[in-house]
Parts: sequence; structure tokens; C-alpha cells
Amino acid sequence: EGLNYHGLVEDCYCEYETVDRINVEVLYPVLQQIVNYPFFRYFKVKLGCDCPFWPDDSMCYSRDCGVCDCPENQFPETFRKPSGTGLSSDKLVCQEEKPEAAVNRTVDAKAFKGWMEVDNPWTNDDETDNAEMTYVDLQLNHERNTGYTGPSARRIWDAIYLENCHKYPSEDCQEKRILYKLISGLHSSISIHIAAEYHFEEETNMWGQNLSLMYDRVLKYPDRVRNLYFTFLFVLRSVIKAKDYLEQADYDTGNPSEDMNTQLSLKKLLNDHELLSACPKPFDEAKLWKGQSGPELMKQTQRQFRNISALMDCVGCGKCRLWGKLQVLGLGTALKILFSVNGDEPSGQQLQLQRNEVIASINLLNRLSESVKLVHEMGPLAERIHAGI
Ligand code: FAD
Repeated sequence: EGLNYHGLVEDCYCEYETVDRINVEVLYPVLQQIVNYPFFRYFKVKLGCDCPFWPDDSMCYSRDCGVCDCPENQFPETFRKPSGTGLSSDKLVCQEEKPEAAVNRTVDAKAFKGWMEVDNPWTNDDETDNAEMTYVDLQLNHERNTGYTGPSARRIWDAIYLENCHKYPSEDCQEKRILYKLISGLHSSISIHIAAEYHFEEETNMWGQNLSLMYDRVLKYPDRVRNLYFTFLFVLRSVIKAKDYLEQADYDTGNPSEDMNTQLSLKKLLNDHELLSACPKPFDEAKLWKGQSGPELMKQTQRQFRNISALMDCVGCGKCRLWGKLQVLGLGTALKILFSVNGDEPSGQQLQLQRNEVIASINLLNRLSESVKLVHEMGPLAERIHAGI
């Protein structure tokens, strides 16, 4: 028996039961495949800690915080440096405590061929700033419990909620609530992943599911569960809306069969009859930013979201920063897809996405899909454990 959520997901056009069904039957299996293909697996990211808001307080004491850079010989061919240029001397120690080779921080012209450099007014990230960027193999760096906690982590969440998305703004308009719900849904998803891969004993290296934590942080609060479903449908809608763009994009990583499969799996996802008939338009973005204050409200929300994006540079744990950046970029991409490229310009203009935006939005959708599945499958047991039955 599933959790007790019925009817339409708030502000959406899809019922909880339908979301669970299409997730388990369609989205989850295909997304799990897609994120394993080379194109979606290597994420270009700046992991340096340069917080624009307060002095760096990195508290990466836990070894589970370390990010494993990709060894160069594992890169897809198009991502590698031309031969002859030596490796950079930076080395990071991987979470499994294997030293890994430093990676190509400079040359990625080939990997980005066919991709535009376009701005995203919703985010603060700049993937063209090559000097400090690195590639990370997302499959080697699971989002899971890292031990990042205490005042440093709390300060980030507080800054996000207090300064950027007030829970119940006086106007209480849908547009403002949406930013709060997106962040809260992402927060739920992060907490679910922490609970799903939890490090129980520092000494014994025991990992497992921590269902009490899942209950205490998410399931106990029905609005956090609802916000997770909302965020999932919001991002799903954006991916469906970007269908034409995503189907035609260049997924070349120098591995023709894998790249072909990437494209085929995406096509399968975006054209799935079951998905499109059960939930054709999970969210209706056309309803927003309508009134007189619409454009101003959109600008204000964009500024707030850019702040949230900049706050990711303050996350004091490498792996959390990696997934925080990826997922906030994914949300920023969803906002860009749904609400046009710029608040000033008429919507309907041609959508252009950066390569990293595509990687982020599909990986975010996958993370949310995993969380929704975990809540659906583990939620009832977590509730029974809590109730002592
Ligand atoms: P927190 O999760 O820190 O929550 C703080 C407060 O926010 C809560 O007390 C509650 O009032 C409110 N809140 C909580 N959840 C919601 C919600 N869904 N909606 C609305 N309000 C809510 N830790 C890891 O182990 N692995 C990671 O990969 C990881 N990634 C992170 C990424 C980012 C961007 C940040 C900021 C932190 C990350 N952390 C990660 C830390 C983790 O999110 C928690 O902050 C930490 O585990 C401490 O949890 P807590 O119980 O104090 O509550």
C-alpha cells in the first residue's frame, strides 16, 4: 500500500497515483539508462570554494565529502586534451581514497562542438570559465550521506529560504510560492538520497538505508513530500517542452554506439505513449506571470534564483557542492525552458541550451525520479517503523 497522497499534485495536472505509475513504469528505468551514457555522465563544474557572501568556512572534515575527478584515460575521447600537453599537477584524493589523475581543465572545444554558449538569466554559473573547471564522473560520486552538517550546512539552507523564498509571502501569489516549492522539493530529494545511502558507522564503513531519517526529515511533513512531487512534475514538464531541442542536440562523445543509444533512449523517453497520454502537460507554465506586475515579478524571482545559484559556491563539502550545483543548474534550466529565455523578451523565441544545462536537467530529473520512487516504495515501511508496528 502506498503513502496516503491522492488527487492532483498541487498546481499540476497529474495525480499522485499517476506520477507513481509512470515513474516506475517509464521514467525511472529509461532515466537510469540515460544517465549512464558518457554524454550525461561527465559534468563540467567549478568546484572551488569562492563564496561571494561570507568568508569560506569549508568544513570538509568527512572523507565522504571528497569528489573524485575523472582520470583522464576514462574520459570520452572528445573530452581529452590533445596529446602532448602534460597533465595539470592538481590531484584530488578520491572518496575511495585512491589518488586520481587531474583532468583536462582547459581544452574542451571538441566536447562543446555543436553547442552554443548561451546565457541563462536564472543562474550564476559560467561553464566557459575554463581555468577552474573540472569534469566529474557523476557515477563515481553518488549523492549520498557525506557527514556535512551543522552550522555550515544550516547557514546555506537558511540563506536560501530566508532571503530568497519566503514560505508564505504576503501576496501569496502562485509565482512566489513556486520558487519556495521548487527549493523545498529539491531539499526533500537531497534528504531522501542522504537517507537512502547512509553511512552508519564511521569505522566499519557500513552503508544502508536509514528509514527513520527519511521519516524525520521528509515523510513526517506532508508538504515536503508534496513539494517533491511538484518539483518532479515541473522539471518533467520542462524536459517535455524542450523535446524538439533535446531530440536534435549533438550527443557526440566519440563513442558512436553509446552516443546513438543516448539519442535513442532520449527519444524513447520523450515520445513514450504511456507517459504522454497519462500526463501530457504535468504543469501549465502559461498561467504564470500574467498580471500587471508579471514582468517585474519574474525579474525579481530571477534575481532570487541567481542568488540561490551563487550560494552553491558556499557549500562547504565538495560532493554536496557538486550535486547542489548540478541540481540548481537543472532547476534554472527548467525555469529558462518554461519561462522563456529572458523576462524582457517575448516568449516563444527559439530555445537554446548549453551542453551543461542539458546534462543538469536530465540528471536532476533522474534524481527526482529516484526520490519519488523511494518515497513511494519505502515510505509506508518508514511510517510503520516510526509508529512501532
Ligand atoms: P537540514 O536538511 O539542514 O534542513 C534545515 C532546515 O530546513 C530544517 O530544520 C527545516 O526547518 C527546513 N527543511 C528541511 N527540509 C525541508 C524541505 N524539504 N522543505 C522545506 N524546508 C525544509 N548532506 C549530505 O550528507 N549529502 C549531500 O549530498 C548533501 N548535499 C547538500 C547540498 C546542499 C546544497 C546543501 C545546502 C546541503 C547538503 N547537505 C548534504 C547537507 C544536508 O542537506 C543537511 O543540511 C544536513 O544533513 C543537516 O540536516 P538537518 O537535519 O540539520 O536539516
